[in-house]
Amino acid sequence: MTDEVAPPALSEAELRASASRTAPASEDAGGGISTVALPLPPGPNVPYTLAYLVADGDGAPHLIDTGWDSPDNLERVERALAARGWRLSDLSSIVVTHLHSDHLGMAAALRERTGAPVLLSRAEQASIDALVGSAPTWVERARERAGGWGVPADRIPELLEVAERAAHVTPFRADALVDDGDTLPIPGRSLRAVVTPGHTPGSLCLVDDLDDSVGPGSPGSLDGSGGSGVVFTGDHVLPTVYSGLGLGGPSPRNALTAMLDSLSRIAQYDALDVLPGHEYRFRGLADRCARIARHHLRRSEEVARARDTLADPTVFEIASRVSWSPGWENMRGFVLQSALQQTAMHLEHLMEEDR
Ligand SMILES: [Zn+2]
Repeated sequence: MTDEVAPPALSEAELRASASRTAPASEDAGGGISTVALPLPPGPNVPYTLAYLVADGDGAPHLIDTGWDSPDNLERVERALAARGWRLSDLSSIVVTHLHSDHLGMAAALRERTGAPVLLSRAEQASIDALVGSAPTWVERARERAGGWGVPADRIPELLEVAERAAHVTPFRADALVDDGDTLPIPGRSLRAVVTPGHTPGSLCLVDDLDDSVGPGSPGSLDGSGGSGVVFTGDHVLPTVYSGLGLGGPSPRNALTAMLDSLSRIAQYDALDVLPGHEYRFRGLADRCARIARHHLRRSEEVARARDTLADPTVFEIASRVSWSPGWENMRGFVLQSALQQTAMHLEHLMEEDR
């Protein structure tokens, strides 16, 4: 789902590319940072990931996010490096914002090719481990959950099929884990970790206010933007797309409650340029965070209204009365599963709020 009121883009080329669903060319984002757009397999979702090359104080490159694993994307990373005088083997570290294949996808391959260590948040590594560990029992747990949600018997098989397909998780182990507030081991830069659970349990944002940065390019100011620094937001905050919630396996907290907290935490970096994981770079982080929070809370209100019109309703009955963009009667398999999961998440959030 997208929003009509879009925040101002920092790059016209990226804005156009996003509208036409084609990966934009690599761009200099100032401050020793450049973009690398990495296409995803064709589908209804976002068409490309925005990864970033960041030069450290010694002039060596670090990569933030890796994109979908494909030979074409590996070449794109190589070309973006070469355009700035680097080779693949110069890559000094790889920071991954979250566990989804459009961000973590090429990390293992790049690490193997370059020896560069991969960094993840500690919470995200725990999510990967939990997903891998619980995969063998997913179908059984999906059956139990469907029962608890009041799913009619004839709709249960399609949910079990979804669980069966999803139960193939590739294990991954990061070389270093970062916690909230940590400064990343990137020489000459003060790149700080802000862990923002919601989209996944350990989604990582990175704040670089450029104060102590000595990276090449234009340290202390971003070309053209006049910004005082940058914040890499992964999929936590995108300029027009609303990222899904709780998409990283079992979450220690309600994903919506966590997301609302994380939005207010990252909104305080409103003065910085926003470098998201998809679409285009933009300004106006606080406005965008407020809009995302309102979007999710509207859905909570809708779920509350549906719940209150029914006596002792099940999750399935409530979901059937909520407005979904494909139309409830058209929702099958994964889409149905995701609608039920969201409804359950909103109900739990409402309960946490004593509503
Ligand atoms: Zn993504």
